[in-house]
Amino acid sequence: MNRPLATLLCLATLWSAPVLAQHNAPGEAAPDKQRAEQTAADYAAQGQAQLQARLAMPARNGKAKNLIIFIGDGMGVSTLTAGRIWEGQKAGRDGESNETAIDAMPYSAMVKTYSHDFQVADSAATATALVTGTKTRSGMLSVAPAALRGKCETAAGKDVPTLFEQAESAGKALGVISTARITHATPASTYAHSVDRNWESDGELPAGAACRDIARQLVEWPHARGLKLVLGGGRAAFMPSTQSDPEYADKKGTRKDGRDLVAEWKKKHPKGQYVWNASQFAALNPADSAPVFGLFEPSHMQFEADRAKDKAGEPSLVEMVELAVRKLGTSEQGYVLMVEGGRIDHAHHGGNAHRALDDTVALDAAIAKALELVNLDETLVLVTADHSHVFTIAGYPPRGNSIFGLASVTEDGEPITARDGKAYTTLGYANGPGAKVGEQRADPAQEDTEALNYLQQSLVPTSGETHGGEDVVVKAAGPQAQLFHGTIEQHSIYHIAKHILGL
Ligand SMILES: [Zn+2]
Repeated sequence: MNRPLATLLCLATLWSAPVLAQHNAPGEAAPDKQRAEQTAADYAAQGQAQLQARLAMPARNGKAKNLIIFIGDGMGVSTLTAGRIWEGQKAGRDGESNETAIDAMPYSAMVKTYSHDFQVADSAATATALVTGTKTRSGMLSVAPAALRGKCETAAGKDVPTLFEQAESAGKALGVISTARITHATPASTYAHSVDRNWESDGELPAGAACRDIARQLVEWPHARGLKLVLGGGRAAFMPSTQSDPEYADKKGTRKDGRDLVAEWKKKHPKGQYVWNASQFAALNPADSAPVFGLFEPSHMQFEADRAKDKAGEPSLVEMVELAVRKLGTSEQGYVLMVEGGRIDHAHHGGNAHRALDDTVALDAAIAKALELVNLDETLVLVTADHSHVFTIAGYPPRGNSIFGLASVTEDGEPITARDGKAYTTLGYANGPGAKVGEQRADPAQEDTEALNYLQQSLVPTSGETHGGEDVVVKAAGPQAQLFHGTIEQHSIYHIAKHILGL
């Protein structure tokens, strides 16, 4: 690990020594005992350690050879906080003072996420801002806002070059990883230009439209070296509708044009390796310079909480990132890698905080692995979210209270109730499937709020919980990472990163 960051992490570990014996399940134990374990002197030492780490932080003013951009889809600030607490509690440590790999990154800025046409944006417009340096209309990928969503006839001449395309021209190796479909908005923004994010397969294009679908654009990518490493879900859009899925015999491809894009990719990259399950992935050699194409599910990859049950097995996000950093790290001209924790967003849309936080913890582990493997004198590491969610951390839960527990309890451990006489949980959503229509809400004190499938309550009964419009954070480590400060536009991240890469 790079020394200053190691020092920072090390200093942080020094003060977090008071490991709590156990966590209070709701309605159990006295919170004061836990608070008492950190004294005023401990808090002062913690503050001093963070000050000293900052005073000792070196200014790195050189150019970056490599860029890794991690995107937690929907990983707003409340998700970062709850994820931090869950990561600590899961490991049997104090959750509130736990320091994640994301927390330990030295520089950060607030990021404004609105799109060209919406106050609250979607992942296509936000990913476009990040990789092309311009805002665009929601639902569109790497095309200028002068085009119109879903109107293929407005697309001609509106493509905007992506950072990936420019890095490729500079001889850099490229990688894209997502736990969502690789044709989903965030990863697709790197290689595809589309006036509609939903055109993932040709079957989704309007009849007679002259635009190319997203899966096809990945395989036909015109830039010489192509994408060196592509790992994610989304096999179905690469397979003809007549072909059965290798993992699920009852599922078929979605292509109506009869093209077998996996076969086309193999033909284009005779030395390349296509993999679709965990054992094939495990056999890949990071020292091998040939391209890798991995599609581990017909649609999105599994949530981290469900991954172990996957039929054919899937690599973890940590394993995918390790392979990518080792493999792309052999490139003499450097590399640009995007890693998306794509399913934090999906769990939030489902009103299911447990899966969202498990995926956040998995993304943090992948970031920790990358920071361990790279040299921060030559690699810029960014961590951000495309947008937030209407996810809240509420009430007055005592220190050490389970993050999935009730929001507040009395000294005796009895739940403190709301005006309807019922308890409420710390985590909740402003809208989503956890709301009842025309019915009283349930009393969470009578439910298993720790269960993986528990849906946190919400106020407004929307079928899917929605994105949130507040700012997200970008964290930065590496050369000129100090340029990420203040409150910036989302598209400015592209301009700053491009400057640091010297492109
Ligand atoms: Zn979403």
